[in-house]
Amino acid sequence: MRKLLVVGMDGLNWTVAEAAGMPVLKGLAAEGAVGHSLVPCPPVAESSSGPGWSTIATGVWPDKHGVRDNGFAGARYAAFPDFLTRISQRYRTYSAVGWAELHRRGTFGPEVGVRVTFDGEADGYDAADARVTADATGRLRDVDAAFVYLGHTDDVAHTVGTGTAYRVAAEEQDRQLGRLLAARGPGEWLVIVTTDHGHRVPDGGHGGCREDERGTWIVAAGPGIPAGARPPGTGQVDVAATALYHFELTAELDGRPWQEAVR
Ligand SMILES: [Zn+2]
Repeated sequence: MRKLLVVGMDGLNWTVAEAAGMPVLKGLAAEGAVGHSLVPCPPVAESSSGPGWSTIATGVWPDKHGVRDNGFAGARYAAFPDFLTRISQRYRTYSAVGWAELHRRGTFGPEVGVRVTFDGEADGYDAADARVTADATGRLRDVDAAFVYLGHTDDVAHTVGTGTAYRVAAEEQDRQLGRLLAARGPGEWLVIVTTDHGHRVPDGGHGGCREDERGTWIVAAGPGIPAGARPPGTGQVDVAATALYHFELTAELDGRPWQEAVR
């Protein structure tokens, strides 16, 4: 039985992840594939969460999904639904987020089987991430495809920049990732971990066209993805395509399934 877990770590620079103690993420990277890319920047779209998660969820770029900043004006999720919505036609789906906009705006839409929303803006993202993780670990045995959002990294970088506290937040998210992996039931799991945008080093912040704020990464491990693979020409749009391929679903997307890209 095919299963999927996509974990989003908001605003996490790969250089910081590499330098941090993140053994779980690094383990997935070692047993699977890693890809890097640059997200669009103005005037196409801000290098921000709204466009980034929309691209990850839908598998198409902002010119199609329509989200160009965190205002979400012009979103076209009806025409370009998220991968969980597509999978939910046949499988049990679940999403848990601490950035409530992702559910309120429909980035992961109402047809997702179970949507659990916490409020990192009100409660703090460290608390929201803990609640997201606790909820998800209780449900992962009973779903086929899940998206789990962790946001503390982004919040810390905005507040104090990309120094020690940012690394510590990344390391906590790695432990949460470990708890998620341990909570999985049996099945052929595809695990994808990714981020929506980077942060300016060292002061934090994003939205513009610097390489450190545009830089994103994808780690994927599971069936059809050989250890050490480095799929060429990867992009944020590949997450949804790779997720759908795992369930033998197809859609007209901008992304390419990594299972095909590495063959
Ligand atoms: Zn973000």
